[in-house]
Amino acid sequence: VEKATQQHIKELNRNLVLKILFERSTTSRAEIARISNLTRTTVSDIIAGLIEEGLVSEIGTGSSMGGKSPILLRLEPDSRHMISLNLGQNEFMGAVVNLRGEIREMTTRPVEGRDGEKALKTVCAVIDELIRKTERPLVGISLGTPGLVNTREGIVINSVNMDWRNFPLGPRLRERFSMPVFVLNDCQAAAMGEYKYQGDEQHTPNMIVVMAGHGIGAGIIINGEIFQGDGGYAGEIGHIVTVRENGLLCRCGNRGCLETVASARAVIQSAESQAMVTPESVLNKQVGRITLEVLEKAFDAGDDLARQIIIHAGHALGEAVASLAGGLNIDKVILTGMMTRFGQNYLEAVQEKAGKNILPRLRQEISVELGHHRDNEIILGASAYLASDYSLLLKPVGARNNLWEKEIWQGNSL
Ligand SMILES: [Zn+2]
Repeated sequence: VEKATQQHIKELNRNLVLKILFERSTTSRAEIARISNLTRTTVSDIIAGLIEEGLVSEIGTGSSMGGKSPILLRLEPDSRHMISLNLGQNEFMGAVVNLRGEIREMTTRPVEGRDGEKALKTVCAVIDELIRKTERPLVGISLGTPGLVNTREGIVINSVNMDWRNFPLGPRLRERFSMPVFVLNDCQAAAMGEYKYQGDEQHTPNMIVVMAGHGIGAGIIINGEIFQGDGGYAGEIGHIVTVRENGLLCRCGNRGCLETVASARAVIQSAESQAMVTPESVLNKQVGRITLEVLEKAFDAGDDLARQIIIHAGHALGEAVASLAGGLNIDKVILTGMMTRFGQNYLEAVQEKAGKNILPRLRQEISVELGHHRDNEIILGASAYLASDYSLLLKPVGARNNLWEKEIWQGNSL
């Protein structure tokens, strides 16, 4: 038992050192010892191990404050790579990401049909391609997918998009690629991405990231960790009923959900039906062909109908944000997803209602901003989630792992 405890303490100490290395661009043994309250000897031993693993390197000396100049240390960003995927509505995007959240390689594939097994094949093809593109040791694979996810087991409970129901995505990929696999809900992954890469000046421990795209959802970060709620549904604000009378039918079966007003799908539908009876709108000539891009152009050109639809969507979202942020007393709200292409005016519509529908005392505190990583936050968040399991950094899978040998072996055996 004692030996196990010692091993455990060793791991905890090493993780603490890794955390400090992750949070700073450079540091020194002395600084790590000071921050961590570990002895200089313990820190030196841990650093020696990490240097041997290739995770840390010495990069010269820093300025001294009297006495000997300290040797500067830094985390080696490309000492490990991660494979990270965003299983979007229309395409699967995958990337090789390093430990600093820098994207090294990227690929996309269109999603063909809604066939669950076919979708899995496409996922595997994306991963295969990315594994071939890196020669670094791999930490594992992480994915952000729409729908309800049991993150602990890697099971997609329900994803209408891919027709996955209780689908063991994590276990299937783990078996296929022989490496750790994490599956996250896309909003939760986006939240992790915005949280981890918010820039080190203003690190807030709590944050809500609202994603408004084809659907609407939010990822909630509490004390630096994703809050999933009892059933994994935390942040599912898309189906809060916002239109009390004559609401449109939602894909969930209810009427008047937030998604029927404020999602990308909803604004396009609304534009189609209203443009038909609004000859003065530029959208009138585009009926039948209105896309988000078309709507954006009209909006930017100051078309009244486009403005009215988008501002209405922003207001509806703002009200939902007020309930969520007010109820949890979380001040920092980040807005992301396709709808943010409507920019500052849209953001202001959200801010207006988010500020109005909240306890007056909280009004000053709540801030709603556009996300920093609006194209890649799901990929970055999913990989950040993977990298935060420090123990995985120390047992990476060799790139070109045994998957390749297995294939060759199977080939030979035929
Ligand atoms: Zn609904």
